[in-house]
Amino acid sequence: MTSSPYAWIEQSLETIHRAGWYRQTRAISGRPGATIECDGRRYLNFASNDYLGLAGDDRLIQAAIAALQTYGTGSTGSRLLTGHRTLHRELEIAIASLKHTEDAIVFSSGYLANLGAIATLVGKRDLVLSDQYNHSSLRNGAIVSGASVLEYDHCNVQDLKIKLSQQRTHFQHCLILTDSIFSMDGDLCPLPEILELAAQFECMVLVDEAHATGVIGATGAGCVEHFGGRSALDTSRSSAPVQMGTLSKAIGSLGGYVAGSATVIDFLRNRAPSWIYTTALSPADTAAALEAIRIVQQEPQRRQQLWDAVTRLKTSLHHHAHLTVLPSQSPILCVQFPEVKSALAASQALQDQGIFAPAIRPPTVPTSRIRLTVMATHSAQQIDRLATAFGLL
Ligand code: PMP
Repeated sequence: MTSSPYAWIEQSLETIHRAGWYRQTRAISGRPGATIECDGRRYLNFASNDYLGLAGDDRLIQAAIAALQTYGTGSTGSRLLTGHRTLHRELEIAIASLKHTEDAIVFSSGYLANLGAIATLVGKRDLVLSDQYNHSSLRNGAIVSGASVLEYDHCNVQDLKIKLSQQRTHFQHCLILTDSIFSMDGDLCPLPEILELAAQFECMVLVDEAHATGVIGATGAGCVEHFGGRSALDTSRSSAPVQMGTLSKAIGSLGGYVAGSATVIDFLRNRAPSWIYTTALSPADTAAALEAIRIVQQEPQRRQQLWDAVTRLKTSLHHHAHLTVLPSQSPILCVQFPEVKSALAASQALQDQGIFAPAIRPPTVPTSRIRLTVMATHSAQQIDRLATAFGLL
């Protein structure tokens, strides 16, 4: 045997290249915002998850600097050992207040929050029902849990009901997983109908509010608030869903959380491996997130600016009859292309005009598209420039 045990990797990489699926990083310089600098050129930025434009906000930066000076850089250990600071608890209380839940727990990322929460809520004798377009962290959380996993058709409550009717009685516990705003399409899950089925079939529900937190709902609490008002968040209701989210999108920092009843959160603190066995979120990230939540609660006008910008872009894109714009109820607007090549060419054409809007392709999504994300800090002029550029494609 002379060949390297790693030789197959080179062949796999070649296959990825041939399919046009090869991915590369691009370094962004300077503070993030409605425009960004990349490879020495300034672009209009329609690719960021920083929906409220807080990641470059002076107040978050000052809060992070103050925390660095007080607490140093690293948190030095897990939360149950030397990693816990009063700041972490303050952030958890702030998240619970934003989400109108009894309690919350902060993880070091949203991905880890999903892995930890799902693997704690279900195990080998249980069933997970997961929307086919759910984020990778939900799907991998389900796999890590060891539960039996069934995917239901995207946002299709009828299919969910059929699968529950056929399978529910064979398992001890059942957990339904859904994104609230789907990250690669921008549509909203049918949460009221999912909660109804969950009550009927005695299932837990975990809603991923990563793209909804700070963005949607009367007070920016997310999709659960959007659908049900505060009453839907009454944690004493047996059907109240467990909510997770990230601090890295509208909140402009880093980290993830799970919010829900005091009992669920207490259980996660005692059982979730990706919380217990990882280093606590850094003090600077924690302080920045805390400041962002204060801003989300005290400056609802930022959310209004975001939705005004979304409406403006949506209206303009719909004027271009040659474009296929996917249905969306969020700041994520996708323009679909028939193949990888045409999506890549469109992205390049936009880039040539100084607009940063990357193509998202299989295997990340089933069909190639340009995924646009709108920010509260996009001016009307910037939105119009993008719409004009699409008109020229
Ligand atoms: N859920 C969804 C729907 C997401 O889009 C993401 C991030 N892309 C995550 C979870 C993971 O969050 P984080 O980036 O904080 O790990």
